[in-house]
Amino acid sequence: MRFSRMYIPTLKEDPTEAEVISHKLMLRAGMIRRLAAGIYAYLPLGLMAVRNVERIVREEMNRAGAQELLLPGVQPAELWQESGRWEQYGRELLRFTDRHQREFCLGPTHEEVITDLVRHEIRSYRQLPLNLYQIQTKFRDEIRPRFGLMRGREFIMKDGYSFDVDDRMAEKSYHVMFEAYDRIFKRCGLNFRAVEADSGAIGGSFSHEFVVLAKSGEDAIATCSGCSYAANLEKAERACPVSKAVNDELPAMEKVATPGCGSIEEVCAFLQLEPEMTIKSMVYESDRGLHLVVVNGARQVSETKLKALLGVPWIALAEEDGIAKAFGARAGSLGPVGAGVEVIADQEVGLMPPLVCGANKDGFHLRQVVYGRDFTADKIGDVVEVRAGDACPRCGAPMELVRGIEVGHIFKLGTKYSKALSATFLDQDGKEKLMVMGCYGIGIGRTVAAAIEQNHDEQGMMLPYALAPFKVALLCLDTKNEEVVAYCDQLYRQLQERGIETLYDDRNERPGIKFKDADLIGMPLRLTVGRKSYARGILEVKKRRSPESMEIPVQDLSQLWHVIEEMAADDQGISSL
Ligand code: ATP
Ligand code: MG
Repeated sequence: MRFSRMYIPTLKEDPTEAEVISHKLMLRAGMIRRLAAGIYAYLPLGLMAVRNVERIVREEMNRAGAQELLLPGVQPAELWQESGRWEQYGRELLRFTDRHQREFCLGPTHEEVITDLVRHEIRSYRQLPLNLYQIQTKFRDEIRPRFGLMRGREFIMKDGYSFDVDDRMAEKSYHVMFEAYDRIFKRCGLNFRAVEADSGAIGGSFSHEFVVLAKSGEDAIATCSGCSYAANLEKAERACPVSKAVNDELPAMEKVATPGCGSIEEVCAFLQLEPEMTIKSMVYESDRGLHLVVVNGARQVSETKLKALLGVPWIALAEEDGIAKAFGARAGSLGPVGAGVEVIADQEVGLMPPLVCGANKDGFHLRQVVYGRDFTADKIGDVVEVRAGDACPRCGAPMELVRGIEVGHIFKLGTKYSKALSATFLDQDGKEKLMVMGCYGIGIGRTVAAAIEQNHDEQGMMLPYALAPFKVALLCLDTKNEEVVAYCDQLYRQLQERGIETLYDDRNERPGIKFKDADLIGMPLRLTVGRKSYARGILEVKKRRSPESMEIPVQDLSQLWHVIEEMAADDQGISSL
């Protein structure tokens, strides 16, 4: 494509509306423009990057045996009422009424529609398994649309759904999709992790989020340095230290005055201890009353885990009044010894050496407190957030905490929708059974944005080869010199003949502007032809990612074709796995 003919409205300045780098660069490179909050137009260059992700997704979905279809974006309310989600989905679901007063919504996802389609078509086990997907525009009235394509209200998603005869087959479909997702994001050139989103399920986890590692990511995840374990921080587990030997000779518990010490830090400073040697006592309230939660003083309670352990719909930190009434002491002096409410202990607490905790008397703490001797818990479980350096629950290696962007999500749905919508089939014995489903999403625009978050420098984007809208930038620095122009035209033709997507900067602009734009758009390879270098019979070749350039004789371009082949091989290499 000739730059002079292509609509690429680049911006010199950083747009003020953009907070994260991918949003800034996509606006600056003329890839997208905002129409309304969370609603964007894809300009030619942006659409090319989007299409590149779509191409990889299609190839891998088809290879995995899924079939593409296209479902309507407008969905009738009745289907959502049947699944119960008309009430449950909340305000992200944009609802409206047609001229006949019939209610509709803009599809934020398509479980209802696909299940409705399949229940009318599939009768027999012989027609299963079935895996259908689409690449389509979704609408979610997000409360806080931001970061450009990263969290839009209107956005392009690949959503797929599998239908199987039983759990075992559904799990097989899930694994096939897991593998396909792994290839998709590898081919996109991304550094990502498959993160357990729902750990602890019997027989393994059947929900994974594919998370691209990036500092600006909204998701906090724990990843193992030794194996592939990765989990959402909310769900991440850790291996606990081996059990301590309970020693009868341990000195007895004693009460010490800790005047004015409320926080763990104050108690530690006063008694000259490390926080690890204390117990942190927090009072939570649920619909079952008060719970005293005790964890190692250096750790934070995970409310998600606590809620799951208690099996309650909500929890909240208890109010001061309630605490004073139940304990006769204030929040800074509480402890599990003699507590009058249910005690929940983190698994680590029972394994710790003698500890310090509040005495349930203002201004006093207890020391030499031993679990099992001085107090016990009504319930023990994992109720703390993991920290960097904690041991991996799988292999014991230290874990790291990193941030990431969720680009894909796979989920075993089971019979949730087939039951609600009566999607059944007749099995081998003529018995009617519910189909077992799975669903699989990929944020297409978010994947492009995530790739930019991971691949950029001060000058602009450095998109991976597979996603780059153009693979080569050909800069003609002397558009007034006929010989130079003729050579550039010829080189451009050669590149086209070889099927190499090239942006040929033939504009009547200063070299500085051409270099800036080429770096901003970030084509993987830059070829520069100027009067001087042409006179020397030299083509300047520079990879976007490398600071040095090479000089290739214009007489023999074999070296150039070799460099391009090598860069392209990354994508093709994985696709031919
Ligand atoms: P999030 O937690 O980020 O809101 P989600 O759990 O709602 O995501 P899913 O319903 O699983 O997302 O959707 C599948 C994929 O669609 C996500 O993995 C993500 O890549 C993409 N996606 C979801 N919401 C948006 C959005 N508002 N803008 C862009 N992409 C999105
Ligand atoms: Mg969401």
